[in-house]
Amino acid sequence: MKSLLSVRPPSGRHPVPTRLLAIAFALAGGPITCAPSEPTIDGTGTITIAGATLIDGTGGPPIEDAVVIVRDDRIEQVGSRGDVPVPEAGEVIDAAGKFLIPGLVDLHNHYRDGLEEWSWALQLHAGVLTVRSLGSDHGQTPAMIDEARAGNVPAPRIFTAGVGFSHPEGFPPGKLGPATEEEAREMVRELAAQKVDLIKMWVDTFLDTRPKIEPEIRAAIADEAAKHGLPVAAHVFFENDVWQLVDAGVRFFVHGVRDQDVGDEFVAMAQEKGLSFAPALGQAKTFWWVAEHPELLDDEEFRAGLQPALLEQLLDPENRAAMLESESTARRRVAYDYVTKFVRRMNEAGVALTVGSDSGAGNIAYGWGTHHELETLVEDAGLTPLEALAAAGAAAASEVTDDPDFGSVAEGMAADLVLLTADPLADIRNTRQIDRVMQAGVWLERGLPEFPQPAASDDQ
Ligand SMILES: [Zn+2]
Repeated sequence: MKSLLSVRPPSGRHPVPTRLLAIAFALAGGPITCAPSEPTIDGTGTITIAGATLIDGTGGPPIEDAVVIVRDDRIEQVGSRGDVPVPEAGEVIDAAGKFLIPGLVDLHNHYRDGLEEWSWALQLHAGVLTVRSLGSDHGQTPAMIDEARAGNVPAPRIFTAGVGFSHPEGFPPGKLGPATEEEAREMVRELAAQKVDLIKMWVDTFLDTRPKIEPEIRAAIADEAAKHGLPVAAHVFFENDVWQLVDAGVRFFVHGVRDQDVGDEFVAMAQEKGLSFAPALGQAKTFWWVAEHPELLDDEEFRAGLQPALLEQLLDPENRAAMLESESTARRRVAYDYVTKFVRRMNEAGVALTVGSDSGAGNIAYGWGTHHELETLVEDAGLTPLEALAAAGAAAASEVTDDPDFGSVAEGMAADLVLLTADPLADIRNTRQIDRVMQAGVWLERGLPEFPQPAASDDQ
């Protein structure tokens, strides 16, 4: 018979919390009988998902016929059916023929004043259960994030940069635009006092339309952030800015190098410094992708995540034709060729890649955008589906915090799970074939929300 101690000793980088070990040891004292697959824990109060193929979000090989036992808001046991017998008590979900992945982590989002609940409902519906808000929290958004964290508003787990930095005349509107280094430091101190989770800055000319934040100001922001233990996320476009920001201590970048091909020296630096990129390829591509593929607009989940004014524009054939012919689209395509090559190169070099969809940027649908980023990383940048799922799993989670309890399916982790009806390793687009979503041990009531009110948006 199998050992009753099927909660294994801590291994890897996610130790099993002492509380769970204590439960396992206590249960191990109970009466036993010898039989194959004898339940090893009292399943009372648990939810067991049995029979799915588990893709655990670490990039490791899938486990077929897996058993995942959830107690309260945590994963209590995980393994193949041979290692982790199905408890007799509790709720058991027969997931044979299905595929289980961790709740998706999306490191790059923007939420709009008044549209927060709508955005979060879309993300929960799509299995996006951990998000970072990157620098555009205005109006009621900070208060709504507090409400979400208090459990009063349904939402993913949220980390936020509050309001981000740019040049005083830079993009986006509503950013912090310090004129001096001291002013920049004071603003970082204020953000730290507001208990933001990270600092965001935009370092880009936005196709030569805006001035870039000055290098000395960037360095002051990064230095002050480090003093407060706050990581920095930098939106970049140009290779030379990445070098300067790395000198200033920045390690995490959204988008990527889009102005030229990087050389071996850059690759070596990225490896040595442990850089990490969330490329937002889907966001870059959507400028022409929808115009070229209007059938995407037949997808209810895509439409539901767009603000009505934008949807109307996209539905207009003349508008779509104009998008395809515009000079800015031509320039974006050139930048896209560079950035997809860049991401491919980073991936081959083992540099960390994460999913950050830029959802809430003008053209990206919440929820759908995260799945589209997964698809684009695979289709256009050569990641394997397993790598892409790790980019929205453990890789993204470890970017948020040194000791994440989300982003992978393992003992002691948060019970954030997405059950799929089709194999995402066979076709990454199958991450959209969602059977059900569990957040913190609770199956969610899924559904596409109605758009609440008109609003504008334009951040990238
Ligand atoms: Zn953005």
